[in-house]
Amino acid sequence: MESNGYEGGLKMIEELTTNAEQIQDELLREILSRNAGTDYLRRFLHGQTDKQLFKKNVPVVTYEDLKPYIDRIANGERSDILVAESITGFFMSSGTSGGQPKLIPITAGGGTTGEIFHTLSESPVIKHFGDVNQVGKRMELMFTRPVIETPSGLRAASVTTTIYSDSGFRTILPKLYTSHVETIFCPEPEQSLYCQLLFGLIQRDEVVMLGSLFASTVLRGLKHLESHWQEMCSDIKAGQISHRITDLGCRNAAASIMKPNPQLADLIESICNCKSWEGIVRKLWPKARYVGCVCTGVMRQYTAELEFYCRGLPLVSTSYACSEATCGINLEPLCKPSDVSYTLLPNLAYFEFLPLKNDPAESIEMRSNSEDIEPVDLVHVKLGHRYELLVTTCAGLYRYKVGDVLMVTGFHNNAPQFQFVERKNVAISVDQEKTSEADLFKAVTEAKALLDPLGFILTEYTSYADTSSTPGHYVLFWELKEKEGNDCKEVDPKVMIECCSRMEESLQYTYKVYRKKNIIAALEIRVVEQGSFEALMDYYVSKGASLSQYKRPSCITSKEALKILDSRVIGKFFSPKSPV
Ligand code: AMP
Repeated sequence: MESNGYEGGLKMIEELTTNAEQIQDELLREILSRNAGTDYLRRFLHGQTDKQLFKKNVPVVTYEDLKPYIDRIANGERSDILVAESITGFFMSSGTSGGQPKLIPITAGGGTTGEIFHTLSESPVIKHFGDVNQVGKRMELMFTRPVIETPSGLRAASVTTTIYSDSGFRTILPKLYTSHVETIFCPEPEQSLYCQLLFGLIQRDEVVMLGSLFASTVLRGLKHLESHWQEMCSDIKAGQISHRITDLGCRNAAASIMKPNPQLADLIESICNCKSWEGIVRKLWPKARYVGCVCTGVMRQYTAELEFYCRGLPLVSTSYACSEATCGINLEPLCKPSDVSYTLLPNLAYFEFLPLKNDPAESIEMRSNSEDIEPVDLVHVKLGHRYELLVTTCAGLYRYKVGDVLMVTGFHNNAPQFQFVERKNVAISVDQEKTSEADLFKAVTEAKALLDPLGFILTEYTSYADTSSTPGHYVLFWELKEKEGNDCKEVDPKVMIECCSRMEESLQYTYKVYRKKNIIAALEIRVVEQGSFEALMDYYVSKGASLSQYKRPSCITSKEALKILDSRVIGKFFSPKSPV
């Protein structure tokens, strides 16, 4: 975006948020008048376009409900199935946080919404940090997945793959980014990552922002650098990329930018060769103004470690979006990751909200009896209340449950602002109780505080419901790291046992009652060796998840994934008593 565009972007945000109700109504009217004659909507609206009829007759649905219609499109049926406009392809969702990848239809008009969203989400960032595009390059870690062709010949690709394939993006890439197109499209994620980091080091004087879509990918990059910087330094010294990199595209890209530079290699070596990597990002990329990546939701667990590496550089979550729709932007890029709220913009999709009971201590099964409750419009949500997000889009989703739980934290003009709470239904459960992603995060946060004074960081965690014996119990996989140095001493077992107790005490009421009655057995923490969660990520990537869009599951259900973690366990600890 041009620098003079950001003020226009901010002005547009003001107008959109001031007229939120009217814009939402107009958008719905437009969607319905275009698509009332489709197979899907005809069943409920009989050709009519009235908002009240839409609310009364069109059901709230999940992906599974729409799947038969989507499959018909994918299989080549031509009639107006979900939309009157023709479908030009599909976005493939990552499927790592909540289950199987989904195919989300795209229409030609979708590209324009994407561009507007980008302009609007970048405007507050430019206001605070200046237009980085004018002064240097972005070192963004970007990855793609193979494009799949449906039987009807339509392309199905992840959102990021679709963006990076766009000819406009390819044109601006060499000027604005340190990564080369060959490295982004390299089919080997590890080789792609190595090259993107190497190219970022070579162009370190030009780098003004670093990032990736999600915090987990930035961290993965920094860890890769921590274990490969010596090899990268010798590449820079020799002006040739390591023989380990076999991908031809990557090798060609490297040949085009590398020449022997012993001075740079020595400098990077002297920076990397230190006892602690605290604040390494600012040392390696001294002109960087911020690190851009989503740090909210399931990414919250990575912020402590990212802050360690980035010390002093702001972590900026610019936007909230999914394969189904672009939704909200962060108007306060400088606020702490834990305080980030997203303002939902009324021109992006027609939004509705299923109210959820508000007491976080309540179990999910009570919260989920929300089907009888009427969804609320965007401008009618209430401060402090939690909702499940529904979207109606120009591309054929009607009252579609995205699967995210959001809480209203304020309003910008008439548009509500939301904190991302959790993925809905991603919960661990061994009996009738259910622990949500947010409950689990809270308990882990309480427990890991015990490690801080000992100089340890919890770098990753996930959970598993072990019901192989009766009663079943919660298993937490923890990967730990020392703040100083790379190897990990053992944590005092007494502290780990205390962590188990602290977690149980922090879990919700139903868990504690069941635990006291021995319906649930003692919580267990399995400490895994360093690199275990990288191996888990590799596994999901090998199964088709995009490294750009990967989200670590909050609860492991796949046997193979469990095997990966179990085979790396270096210590097991159990809660000694039931919580009070
Ligand atoms: P995908 O469709 O694979 O791109 O995944 C989209 C999902 O990622 C959303 O439904 C959210 O659960 C999560 N997500 C995306 N953006 C954010 C954000 N800013 N904060 C928290 N979670 C997010």
